[in-house]
Amino acid sequence: MTEAITEAVTSISPAPRMRVKAMKEYHPPLGCRDLLRLDFNENTFACSPRVKEVLGSISGDALTRYPEREPVEVIVAAHLGLAPEQVALTNGVDEAIHVLFETFLEAGDEILLPVPTYTMYEVYASATDARIVAVQADDDLQFPFERLLAAITSKTKVIAIANPNSPSGSVATRAQLLELAQRASRAVFLVDEAYFHFHGETVIDLVGTLPNLVVARTFSKAYGLAGLRLGLITGPVELMRWMRRVLSPYSVNSLALACLPPALEDAAYIDWYVSEVLAARTEFEAALDSVKLRRWRTRANFILVDIGPRHAEFVHHMRAAGVLVRDRSNDPGCDGRVRITIGTREQMRQAVVALNNTVVALNLGAEAQ
Ligand code: PMP
Repeated sequence: MTEAITEAVTSISPAPRMRVKAMKEYHPPLGCRDLLRLDFNENTFACSPRVKEVLGSISGDALTRYPEREPVEVIVAAHLGLAPEQVALTNGVDEAIHVLFETFLEAGDEILLPVPTYTMYEVYASATDARIVAVQADDDLQFPFERLLAAITSKTKVIAIANPNSPSGSVATRAQLLELAQRASRAVFLVDEAYFHFHGETVIDLVGTLPNLVVARTFSKAYGLAGLRLGLITGPVELMRWMRRVLSPYSVNSLALACLPPALEDAAYIDWYVSEVLAARTEFEAALDSVKLRRWRTRANFILVDIGPRHAEFVHHMRAAGVLVRDRSNDPGCDGRVRITIGTREQMRQAVVALNNTVVALNLGAEAQ
């Protein structure tokens, strides 16, 4: 009897779109993260104290209202030297990516992705009817500029570039980005500057000067607001108008909106955090070199390290030592590689102790020699 009911229920269960059926499930390895978090490239310390102050002062009445994004978009636009119509706040950059792909990609289109890169581009692209064209980097994981140029066709509709890229930490030059944007004139050219503060170079000043350039920024990394879910996307007014049709008017909540102005105002806090990370990165690179682990040159708050066949044990051992790191072995061209977020110097000294113990326990240094 129960079986018959189950069968009947399954047979009438509404089917998703074919594209959704074919999608891979993506479960970020969260859970039990009360350790040193060097696994998700977040700020590892805290947000600005001014942001915490504002959060504490939010009234019950303020929460009864729907959030108003526009006044805060005016503030952010002024901060970035752009017009308010060129800027949309989003529920993290993830929502910006999702909205951009939903707005522009349809059947017959191609989306170009240099890989390895940020996972969510593929996730959101695979929910559309466009074809994903993955352009593989060489073993040095440098930006595959020539290969990307060669992959542009009349069907190329979106190109998504994380700059700096994850998990490699490598960067594209401004000249390379400009040339690609100009050569793919039918495509929306997304430069995702999630890790901008650690790199210091941007193309956001070119927004509005090219008809297809769109730039995204997040408040999840240097600003330390990953939990609030706050990002932005900027581009020519024409493109922004289409994306606003798809974007939910209320996807950025009132708490996030209230925190944005103090976060932007406290430049000293960002400067401190970034300089702390950059100093810690130099020290950590030296520690990796002294145990003879291969690493990739990085311009971000993380570093990719070649652990080899014992990558899963490495991650496990580091966790047992109180440090979370991220296995990137499933990324294209990244077998055996682990990504380690850079935190403050004090945190990274703790990470070095765990690293050295793990290297000895797994006999890794010797393997690399
Ligand atoms: N872009 C890149 C390149 C990232 O690495 C990340 C975070 N992992 C994001 C976007 C997502 O940012 P947000 O938290 O704003 O959604």
